[in-house]
Amino acid sequence: MAEAFAAVEIIAAKRDRHELTDAQIDWVVDAYTRGVVADEQMSALLMAILLNGMNAREISRWTDAMINSGERMSWSALSVPTVDKHSTGGVGDKITLPLAPLVAACGAAVPQLSGRGLGHTGGTLDKLEAIPGWRASLSNAEMLKVLQDVGAVICAAGAGLAPADKKLYALRDVTATVEAIPLIASSIMSKKIAEGTSALILDVKTGSGAFMSDPKRAEELARTMVSLGTRAGVKTRALVTAMDVPLGLTAGNALEVRESVEVLAGGGPSDVVELTILLAREMLDAAGVKNAKDPAIALKDGSAMDKWRAMISAQGGNPDAPLPIAREKEIVKAEKSGTISSMAALKVGVSAWRLGAGRERQGEKVQAGAGIEIHAKPGEKIEEGAPLFTLHTDEPERFARAKEALKGAVVISESGAIAPHLPLVVARIDSHDLT
Ligand code: URA
Repeated sequence: MAEAFAAVEIIAAKRDRHELTDAQIDWVVDAYTRGVVADEQMSALLMAILLNGMNAREISRWTDAMINSGERMSWSALSVPTVDKHSTGGVGDKITLPLAPLVAACGAAVPQLSGRGLGHTGGTLDKLEAIPGWRASLSNAEMLKVLQDVGAVICAAGAGLAPADKKLYALRDVTATVEAIPLIASSIMSKKIAEGTSALILDVKTGSGAFMSDPKRAEELARTMVSLGTRAGVKTRALVTAMDVPLGLTAGNALEVRESVEVLAGGGPSDVVELTILLAREMLDAAGVKNAKDPAIALKDGSAMDKWRAMISAQGGNPDAPLPIAREKEIVKAEKSGTISSMAALKVGVSAWRLGAGRERQGEKVQAGAGIEIHAKPGEKIEEGAPLFTLHTDEPERFARAKEALKGAVVISESGAIAPHLPLVVARIDSHDLT
């Protein structure tokens, strides 16, 4: 069959800053998925998009083309509204773990498709896989059954969901074209729209530990995604939240599961609890759940914990099994006494990754027990020689590089001054805020 376009003409059009037509976008995404457009041609087009951008119509059409490359899921069999959350990822960002069962305990259904980590930010599936027996891959029928029985499911996206994105994302990863707002927004939103949720809360991270470190760019990404979701009929809102400091007191798979369980038991670090409750309230409101239970109560009365246990068991996991512990530990101590003025999220994330909590290449195994415990956060006083971090790994040869990554990560002030830091919520974007 003759092809409608030649890839080289589309690449040249974007190189020369022209808008792509709807037909060009539909064709190039479909032809790339079919293998007709070669990787080197798509690489050139992605770089032209990164450099020259796309307007709102082009981004929306590109997103639709990626959705149309695969299946669309439907949850119409459920009697309660569906709502999902997506985070752009950060250091110690384990919020999905307590959040999904919490929102289910308050009256909405949460079909959460999550990913694995790449680089210094962890992935939700890697964290949950630290739980003995827990299974990330479910069929659509199994997913529906867990949603009906429990109200929350966290699993991997199947091969049928936005296959164009899977291919494009792998190519972007190796061609330095991940950081383009049109490509990030369409990648995330194609999967979320195809997933069939009726409402969606986006947690767009900003600060040194996020891949959108500049708050203005993070806000632009948030607006682009809210606009894409709204156009597709998904009630979408975004919070731009701080990732200049690690979230909570742990970074690493089993360590973060442990902290999430503490939150579900009514304890846990205050920043994790605050963000979990905030996002849960946004999700319940966006989903339009009438007379929803207050999430702060559901964390205290055991109902969120009950949902967690049911959700883990439904996916083959044993919520009572001891979590894996790394074979080796090393403590990093404070070099002087004073007040912790700042803690660089990126350095902590890179260190946890070097300990074995993350992967360098897709498909690599991660260590369940590896990571970092943080003993004091900015604003807290510390004495010289007191533990600042505990590093965990199965392979002690990793300690040296992990400690190197932590150099300069913590500033201790003798005067008690604290460095300026981002507020937990930097911006909130609702569809009404779009111009
Ligand atoms: N996450 C995604 O799914 N896609 C991107 O492009 C970036 C982060």
